[in-house]
Amino acid sequence: MTDNKIEEATEKKSLNFIEQIVEADLEAGKNGGRLQTRFPPEPNGYLHIGHAKAICMDFGVAEKFGGICNLRLDDTNPQKEDTEYVDAIKEDIEWLGFHWAHLYHASDYFQQLWDFAVRLIKEGKAYVDEQTSEQIAAQKGTPTQPGTPSPFRDRPAEESLALFEKMNSGGLPEGSMVLRAKIDMASPNMHFRDPVIYRIINKEHHRTGNKWKAYPMYDFAHGQSDYFEGVTHSICTLEFVPHRPLYDYFIDELKEGRDLDDNRPRQYEFNRLNLTYTVMSKRKLLALVTEHLVDGWDDPRMPTLCGLRRRGYSPEAVRKFIDMIGYTKFDALNDYAMLEAAAREDLNARALRVSAVLNPVKLIVTNYPEGKTEEMEAVNNPERPEDGTHTITFSRELWIERDDFMEEAPKKFFRMVPGKEVRLKNAYIVKCTGCKKAADGTVEEIYCEYDPESRSGMAGADRKVKGTLHWVSVSHCLDAEVRLYDRLFTVENPAADERDFRELLNPDSLTVLKNCHVESYLAEAAGQKYLQFQRIGYFTFDKSSTPDHLVFNRTVGLKDSWAKK
Ligand code: ATP
Ligand code: MG
Repeated sequence: MTDNKIEEATEKKSLNFIEQIVEADLEAGKNGGRLQTRFPPEPNGYLHIGHAKAICMDFGVAEKFGGICNLRLDDTNPQKEDTEYVDAIKEDIEWLGFHWAHLYHASDYFQQLWDFAVRLIKEGKAYVDEQTSEQIAAQKGTPTQPGTPSPFRDRPAEESLALFEKMNSGGLPEGSMVLRAKIDMASPNMHFRDPVIYRIINKEHHRTGNKWKAYPMYDFAHGQSDYFEGVTHSICTLEFVPHRPLYDYFIDELKEGRDLDDNRPRQYEFNRLNLTYTVMSKRKLLALVTEHLVDGWDDPRMPTLCGLRRRGYSPEAVRKFIDMIGYTKFDALNDYAMLEAAAREDLNARALRVSAVLNPVKLIVTNYPEGKTEEMEAVNNPERPEDGTHTITFSRELWIERDDFMEEAPKKFFRMVPGKEVRLKNAYIVKCTGCKKAADGTVEEIYCEYDPESRSGMAGADRKVKGTLHWVSVSHCLDAEVRLYDRLFTVENPAADERDFRELLNPDSLTVLKNCHVESYLAEAAGQKYLQFQRIGYFTFDKSSTPDHLVFNRTVGLKDSWAKK
């Protein structure tokens, strides 16, 4: 094989199964060689990491094969939809780095859908059913037993037409009647047993106002919208597999034999993203928000994209994770730890290294002159030398982590222990000389002596000491509040649990540390989104942070603390 051929072959192998279908369709000249996808969220909530998987597929495949992807707001149910969600959806897609060619709304097609429904009624393929939803459900039958026809199934078309008009003109209570497609009450596919295609909703629509009262159901709106727009590949998640025959049925009816060149959308399905220790259902996420169980849709514990953003995830980290899990035809539960691993890998490459002490205790360098200070050079990111350095002020009184000191320590504790040496990061080697304790045994101050010849970077200063500790200078640091986050739920798969999801919330999912100290460089670096508090983890400024009250969110720890548990 030539180099070119090998390259082509490896690239082919790395295509996922949907990309392979798209490639084959384009090669076969289907749909006139066009590729058009869409991302069709319902604006009834904020986008979550599961949506990111769909977005990466819909936009990604179009980008990869030179097609286009449109954003279609699937706004067919005014009960739960809102412009707040529309704005958030757009922001999140752009944050992920994708661009839609056109913005469409399913509500743009209400007239066309209405006209199509009227045609079906006239052709004897749809009828108005005045039964309750319970009665209709009771007549559905089971997959092995045919359903019972509605008593309204064979009513004259004129009657259905008049009632359909009435459904739309107002005055009828919701649920009093529905329009059903007349297909096959004995079909082995339950979706063919005269599916409801229109229902009454007496609520103002955020775009069409009070023009409509009869609203199309998902199965009647989605495929047709795809067809009106010229979508070629309608990619969705696996739960829509049983809907596909109905999707094709309505498009066949809509086309009426037109377009004999077979220019039509086709539905393809991939596996949903499910994550451990969280929920993806918008209904449940909305309940967490409205019941104030979290601090809004962008609470850093939420699996929403705005939550991940506020938590300090980069869009690249989210996309890396989506890449890692891939696309298959089998549903799975993905490990939250994998999302965190993607974040660590990504943030390692981009985060600014700073020092922060979260649980402080004072360290006094007794042989360092009072009033003296030195500017120590600190590397911004060892992974990216081009990011340069900044300085951190050293002085006689420092804060270090309480956990970094033990009066009597086991052998492998290479931190601050009386009589032992340790390096203070970017500064000197110090030898611990003791501590002062309160009556209850709490350590109040720790003492040490520094070796003036051991300053980092000095010739001959590289003598071996096992531990390196971070610190900040008491008189040259800023106070900060630091928020540590843990899993939102205590069980791996809350969606599969019999208990109410509220009972499964982790009471320790948020720890607020009010008494932290960070190096003063963070006042200058306020524009930085991605930080590493050295030896601790990755952090970001919370949206509530101000120069007078710094607030940081922990994105993820440096190591997977869950692996041990
Ligand atoms: P819900 O059923 O909780 O209201 P939804 O999944 O129906 O939410 P939509 O706004 O209809 O939300 O979803 C838009 C697109 O995102 C759909 O194509 C859907 O298949 C996809 N999607 C939603 N959740 C996931 C997920 N967990 N994994 C992958 N794709 C998803
Ligand atoms: Mg949906």
